[in-house]
Amino acid sequence: MKFSLVAGTLKIMESTTKRLELTSHLVDLFKKTPSEIIANVVYLLQGKLRPDHEGVELGVAEKIAIRAISKSAGVPVKKIEHEYHEGGDLGQAASKVLEEKTQTTFLTQTITVERVYDTLYKIAELKGARSQDMKMKYISSLLNDASPSEAGFILKIITGSLRLGIADYTIMDALAIAFTGSKENREALEKAYNVSSDLGKVAAAVAKDGINAIKNFKVSVFSPVRPMLAERVKSAEEAREKMGSEFAAEYKLDGERVQLHILGEKIVLYSRSLENITNYYPDIVEKISKSLNAKQLILEAEAVAVNEDTGEFLAFQELMHRRRKYGIHKAVSQYPITVNFFDVMYVDGKSCLDLAYKERRKLLENIIREDSFAKLMPMTIVKTNNEVEDVLENAINTGCEGLMLKQLDLPYRAGARGSNWLKLKREYRNELGDSLDLVVIGAFFGRGRRTGRYGALLLATYDDQTDTFPSICKVGTGFTDENLDQFYQILSDKITLKKNPRINSGLEADVWFEPELVIEILASEITLSPIHKTAIDVIRKGSGLALRFPKFTGRIRFEKTPENATTDQEIISLYNGQKRVVQDERQNYI
Ligand code: AMP
Repeated sequence: MKFSLVAGTLKIMESTTKRLELTSHLVDLFKKTPSEIIANVVYLLQGKLRPDHEGVELGVAEKIAIRAISKSAGVPVKKIEHEYHEGGDLGQAASKVLEEKTQTTFLTQTITVERVYDTLYKIAELKGARSQDMKMKYISSLLNDASPSEAGFILKIITGSLRLGIADYTIMDALAIAFTGSKENREALEKAYNVSSDLGKVAAAVAKDGINAIKNFKVSVFSPVRPMLAERVKSAEEAREKMGSEFAAEYKLDGERVQLHILGEKIVLYSRSLENITNYYPDIVEKISKSLNAKQLILEAEAVAVNEDTGEFLAFQELMHRRRKYGIHKAVSQYPITVNFFDVMYVDGKSCLDLAYKERRKLLENIIREDSFAKLMPMTIVKTNNEVEDVLENAINTGCEGLMLKQLDLPYRAGARGSNWLKLKREYRNELGDSLDLVVIGAFFGRGRRTGRYGALLLATYDDQTDTFPSICKVGTGFTDENLDQFYQILSDKITLKKNPRINSGLEADVWFEPELVIEILASEITLSPIHKTAIDVIRKGSGLALRFPKFTGRIRFEKTPENATTDQEIISLYNGQKRVVQDERQNYI
């Protein structure tokens, strides 16, 4: 098939944004495309060579593309760079300089879709030191035989600027019309796409065997399922209006969504955007099989950074240290995680997508053998607003972002955002700009690398009305090895056999101290807490205030007496003070 058919369609499509017109141009193109190559045409239209999860990258540096144009057009690199900077698009720059050349020469070849695709695929496969030169030669050979406008589109595909041009749903509309005669069938195509994440495969099936081939599309291992998404709600009340009288409240952990595909020994991990992220999690690949009671699985989990010594969840940013090409093994030991499973999509040959949530959860509970690495996402079935709020409070206090609320009787809707799943975060966050000076009242024995020392300290504020020390947080972060030794020594003089009566704590420490030592702490915010006793009953009945993500700054305030520590009143006014609307913390990353 002539590549000019594809390039011609792209050219007319560039001149309109109307969806109906875009669709009808694509319908014309698809009808002229042989079914054997329609998958590749669809990928090229999407500006890629294979579905994203296969990770086939062209990997052509701009510099190389410019050299290829220069070679084919016989003009200096500088001139192409100039055109590129003027217009901002390398494809256009290529068309322009090649246009000038074709006025003086004749084209000898008709370039085909097959040749363009195969050459680009070869380019993607080239690796190693000398590959850039080879890439340049391949591109230049295509440009030699392409018309200026074809060359422009080839360059756009190579440099990734064609991506995002044509929406997936427009391609699906056009496929439905071209091969089933009706746009109504688009829903079936979308379903097939949602379970395979491969629009080329969907196109090939419908082009060859019509709508029935599409209806037979099955979930399969190593074809990622497009994830189900959640709608945001502002309150427990709003959630209940949408969900009815009984639903599941799961913790919403602040990590990375991971779709695990497992077939015997082979494990592949996909991100929320279905990129292959296996390389960032060698620990999951190594350890997870022993926690699973089946051999063929597709599971969903949230990977979360944790403090290994205390078991506390850490902020999402900590996990992002693993996003690196080199030194991943060091990052794995520096930023340990737990894997918190919340859904199952496929077990031993069978799709679970059509099962109700409560049945999938039951299956999941049978599949996962929990240990210190693999966990089930904490879940409570809730009926009243109060119950939702209590679970939310607990979730926030263990370091979660909020809750995911899920309908008990509904299936997994791949690729869809709907009211089957709701996310409930708090509307406001009480941010702490300043550090606090807190009294060490107790400690917990360390595990792992902290064995033989304290893993975490229990801290309190000072309540000057009652002359007591109410607890406010447990802190295990921010300590160097030296700090840990130092604390072990200093605190050994302050151990008491019984808890000092001036201590008011919601947690049972392993060791209690005379409330004497004051240390400096930073935290991300102050939250309501069902556990800690600072400002108990003041903001809400039955709740105190606690610190989220507390961290030792490295300063011991030897100069302060415990009565000089931050008071509960100061915490209350900080809590009531600056409020900031909670924003999505991940937007900068994913
Ligand atoms: P958001 O990114 O705010 O739209 O929230 C959805 C994300 O929350 C998902 O993509 C997951 O990464 C994450 N998440 C955390 N806990 C859960 C859970 N229990 N169920 C589903 N998703 C969860």
